[in-house]
Amino acid sequence: MELKSLWKQFIRRITLIISLFTLGMILGLFLKNNQLLRRDVESRAKSHFANILLTRRWNADYHGIYVKKTEGVLSNPYLKNPDIVSSDGTVYTQKNPALMTREISELAKADSLYSFHITSLNPINPNNKADDFETEALQAFEKGEKEAFQKFYPDGKTIYRYMAPLLVEENCLSCHAEQGYKVGDIRGGISVDIDITKIEAAQRKNNILIFIFSTLSLSILLITTYLFIRQLMGKIQQNQHDMEELAITDELTQLHNRRFFFEKLAQEYSRSIRHKRNMACIMLDIDFFKKFNDTYGHQVGDLVLQRVAKVLQDKTRATDSLARYGGEEFVVLLPETDVKGAEIFAEKMRTAVEAEVISTEDNQNLQVAISLGVCGLNSDELAECEDETVIVKYADQALYQAKEAGRNRVQTYLPGNKQA
Ligand code: GH3
Ligand code: MG
Ligand code: MG
Repeated sequence: MELKSLWKQFIRRITLIISLFTLGMILGLFLKNNQLLRRDVESRAKSHFANILLTRRWNADYHGIYVKKTEGVLSNPYLKNPDIVSSDGTVYTQKNPALMTREISELAKADSLYSFHITSLNPINPNNKADDFETEALQAFEKGEKEAFQKFYPDGKTIYRYMAPLLVEENCLSCHAEQGYKVGDIRGGISVDIDITKIEAAQRKNNILIFIFSTLSLSILLITTYLFIRQLMGKIQQNQHDMEELAITDELTQLHNRRFFFEKLAQEYSRSIRHKRNMACIMLDIDFFKKFNDTYGHQVGDLVLQRVAKVLQDKTRATDSLARYGGEEFVVLLPETDVKGAEIFAEKMRTAVEAEVISTEDNQNLQVAISLGVCGLNSDELAECEDETVIVKYADQALYQAKEAGRNRVQTYLPGNKQA
């Protein structure tokens, strides 16, 4: 797979993974948040229930508590003899657990804290009649259920309701024995209502904040990851490009190398045949280069190669391809050029190199000459060639002839030389 599509696939996958992970986290936080609230409300409701049970037990242990019957204090109409008179004539009235439960419930309700309702399937006091939820819960308690929960929404409020059964305890029997009560019997239940409107609103706000922050974090994470990957991708592509360049570049002269030349030659060869165009090739070689190496050393030899390469490069058009063919040999490919054009160009190169003065580090001024072999073929001649390398071979033959003829000159390949 190509590097670019591989990166795209990687970015898509990493985006998906990060998004899924973050969404999972948001969902987890929402659920945890809701669960915490539910548990908190549930444990508050249970402790209210436990408190009222303890209060009732305390009252029952004393077989009902007597309070001074001052103004506004009513006697319990469901008790046989609720009132007693002390020796000083003060009247006291009995508050049994059931009535006490009811009165505390009303106090709690007045303070808007919470409320509870004592109820049974057959209440003596009609105020203690069970509503639909309580009836259903009481029936379930008789079948063995231990608790019941409900959430309801009266007047735009949200109320959480908890209910558990009231069991007959030993101390209940002193008053209720004649009603046939037995320890462990379910005589009814107490439902505890807690207003959770404000808590739920706060929780909703909390959830919105979690959502906003998570979305923001996700966006920042995705953008940072994308930018990082893009930067990395740019670096890798640059490296890849540098490596590709390195593979087709000659280290000493920084010209293209032989490998690049043959790739280009194959492309231009088929293009010339297809479009019926001429193509020319020039092979050139520095004259008596060995002498330079031998006289001035390899380093000066390298310098000469670099300077000749620079001169050739400056003369070469962008559409032509110049390469170091090997040692002190260079090659130029000239698409859409006939023999005449190639000869003129070769001569230009020859005079330019000849005119170049190369100064060495120890202040010696050197000059070199080159011999060039030119081969220009039209599209028909190109098509007749066995392959694209033939034109190079002919140019090389012409170069050999230029050397033979005395060097520092341009020699054109002639078809008659084919057999040579
Ligand atoms: P001619 O005119 O026939 O071309 O003679 P010449 O001396 O140029 O040719 P020859 O083939 O005898 O010698 C070429 C020399 O080029 C031999 C080799 O040591 C030298 N050479 C090849 N590559 C390099 C290089 O990268 N750096 C240096 N300094 N010398 C090189
Ligand atoms: Mg040479
Ligand atoms: Mg040579």
